Amino acid sequence: MTGPTLQPDVLVVGAGPVGLTAALALRAYGLPVTVLEAGPEGRQRPGSRAIFTHSQTLQILDRISPGLGAELYRHGVYWNTQRTFHGGREVYAKTYPDPPADVYPHFTSLPQVQIEAYLYARALAAGVTFAWDQEVAQVDATDDGVVVTTAAGRRWEAPYVVGADGSRSVVRKQVGARMEGTRDEGWYVVVDVAEKDEPTLPRERHFHYAHPAVDGRNVLIVPFAGGYRVDLQLVDGDDPEELASPAGVREWLDAVLPPGYAERTTWVSTYQFLQLVAHDFADPHRRVLLVGEAAHLFAPFGARGLNSGVPDAEAAAIAVAAASRASGAAARAPVEAFALARRSAALFNRDAAGEALAHLRPDAATAERIAAAAERAPDDRSASEWLEKAPYGPRGVHRAETVYRY
Ligand SMILES: Cc1cc2nc3c(=O)[nH]c(=O)nc-3n(C[C@H](O)[C@H](O)[C@H](O)COP(=O)(O)OP(=O)(O)OC[C@H]3O[C@@H](n4cnc5c(N)ncnc54)[C@H](O)[C@@H]3O)c2cc1C
Repeated sequence: MTGPTLQPDVLVVGAGPVGLTAALALRAYGLPVTVLEAGPEGRQRPGSRAIFTHSQTLQILDRISPGLGAELYRHGVYWNTQRTFHGGREVYAKTYPDPPADVYPHFTSLPQVQIEAYLYARALAAGVTFAWDQEVAQVDATDDGVVVTTAAGRRWEAPYVVGADGSRSVVRKQVGARMEGTRDEGWYVVVDVAEKDEPTLPRERHFHYAHPAVDGRNVLIVPFAGGYRVDLQLVDGDDPEELASPAGVREWLDAVLPPGYAERTTWVSTYQFLQLVAHDFADPHRRVLLVGEAAHLFAPFGARGLNSGVPDAEAAAIAVAAASRASGAAARAPVEAFALARRSAALFNRDAAGEALAHLRPDAATAERIAAAAERAPDDRSASEWLEKAPYGPRGVHRAETVYRY
């Protein structure tokens, strides 16, 4: 007697937030999934990183794992007051009304490590298999499937592979996808500080142009569950290593935060604005799909990293589910559609991040415009709103996100 034919697992490479989302979404479509992760089981990843989770992201997570978005929302913090300063003077302030109890507000804010913990717990409960210490080194795709080989020589076979192995993606390189775009020369130092038992910082988002306490550098302060993230924008001639050193951080952080926060620093990192998008989001055989930072790298301003990786992951799962039900040339179509739609969304995000950058590292004309707007604000509402919104680039999401439904 023969039993039912076992369907081979779809492989997801990378157990970051986007890989975990892809695994959950694939399970939601009934597909068996194994996640191959280079890191060890129980690893602790550092830093707040993708704190700002949009309501659309929460909705997608609810779709693929009912109640997950709500769980993240309950754990995160929401602030409804935003302030912008120029040279220490307030040029914009807005307090939004509290959202209705049954609707997500625009966002919730919690550290990426906690988002990953919720995703991981859901993935285990959904029956995802995890294989840790599996550093993928080689990916060979054909029209019939994919063979993945790890650095230790272990071989895995799969009908489809979702590459979610982050910014230095081996999967991307193996399938011949090229990153296209630019890296800006400017540097930022990012620091997490833990909340005090008796907080002295308001739970508000503050953006400072030309903060007078740090020689006119720009500073962004954003709350998240358990603390605050502070971004310092360096100016030409600054040494990122010096300003990210324990003594350097202490000095500038003490200047921009109330006393007692600098010694509560839990994470320090530096970054540059990258605006890179893979030339193709799938391999030529349409068996390997790239998602998250394996496919695109954006500047943190505007919170487009995780918030675009989650729709990538859902779209990849929808495409794999549809392709798995088809055969021959028809199986290519859903993957084609995924690659086109998500690349187009990534180009939109890359350009939006580019607009933010043009504002944060202004040419002479934009610098003059910022100074003139700061003179007129807050009495001139349009100048005030422009100063508030421009550092994050245009709002909104790429409309093609609703295109694929099979
Ligand atoms: C300072 C900073 C601030 C940020 N702020 C924000 C923000 O406010 N909002 C936002 O949306 N985003 C933000 N981001 C971006 C966000 O962190 C990323 O978008 C997110 O981590 C990408 O998730 P990912 O799953 O694609 O990749 P990753 O999180 O990098 O996960 C990739 C996984 O793949 C594994 N891996 C790598 N290579 C291999 C291999 N060869 N084989 C097997 N496994 C492998 C890695 O170990 C890792 O677990 C920020 C990033 C930084 C650095």
